[in-house]
Amino acid sequence: MVNLFVWPGCVSEWVRLVKLHSAELNWITPKSERTIARHARVSTKEPEREEFTRLLSFCVRHGHWSVFEQASASFEIATTRAISPQLLRHRSFTFQELSQRYSDPSEILRDVKDEFKFDLRLQAEANRQSSAEEISIELRNYFWEKLKFIDQDIKSVYREMLELGIAKECARNVLPEYTTTRVHMSGTIRSFIHYVGLRGKENTQLEHRNIAHNIGRILKKELPIIYKAIKTVNDPSLVGWDFGNST
Ligand SMILES: Cc1cc2nc3c(=O)[nH]c(=O)nc-3n(C[C@H](O)[C@H](O)[C@H](O)COP(=O)(O)OP(=O)(O)OC[C@H]3O[C@@H](n4cnc5c(N)ncnc54)[C@H](O)[C@@H]3O)c2cc1C
Repeated sequence: MVNLFVWPGCVSEWVRLVKLHSAELNWITPKSERTIARHARVSTKEPEREEFTRLLSFCVRHGHWSVFEQASASFEIATTRAISPQLLRHRSFTFQELSQRYSDPSEILRDVKDEFKFDLRLQAEANRQSSAEEISIELRNYFWEKLKFIDQDIKSVYREMLELGIAKECARNVLPEYTTTRVHMSGTIRSFIHYVGLRGKENTQLEHRNIAHNIGRILKKELPIIYKAIKTVNDPSLVGWDFGNST
């Protein structure tokens, strides 16, 4: 992973921020690859055949994506309200997101202490949706210093509203986009193949890319045959799987 969040003397901050935009595997269909292969062999006399490396590679190579819908997985994602709408756009998944009408979001990810210290990068010139390299430490600290007070103000108004009986569904209107959230994302292996392929690409926002790569690295271990097949095809929609060899 590119340690864009590291800056001198702040190793603990790095640990925290990387943890924020990350995913943990909740569950995956047992023996997913074998299950997919058995379903792919629905028309054959020997659906339980031991060897299925060539079969799965063939399916990836020739875009027989429906067989990858026969196994599923679910991830628990820790991120912010700026990123969670991007996740929710992936309509083939089913989601469960932390309700701000039910819980005070600050109580959910307690380990995220200074939410306002989100990463600050320069606006990309070519891509109007994207960012370029990091800003200087001085400029970042300048904004963080300002944000510290705004953050304190927002939190104190929010708390006061709850204390005086205002409903969470109304009080949450003051919460910023950097508010932390937790999302459960479940879907078929087919959907995850394309999700990582797309959201792992350079043009996806860095924080979201970290989540996609995190999911990709976990699936690489869980689905080694499928991962290898993805890496051998020249499919531009799977470029996001190029996250290097690190685990
Ligand atoms: C860089 C970037 C910028 C974006 N900007 C905007 C924006 O400005 N405004 C906006 O409204 N939305 C934006 N989006 C969101 C985008 O338009 C889609 O809504 C989002 O990526 C969800 O994709 P999906 O509909 O394919 O859903 P998914 O749930 O990811 O996919 C739906 C189904 O299609 C399948 N599938 C996907 N790709 C393939 C493929 N290549 N081959 C075969 N099957 C496939 C999946 O397996 C799944 O079954 C952006 C996305 C990206 C990556």
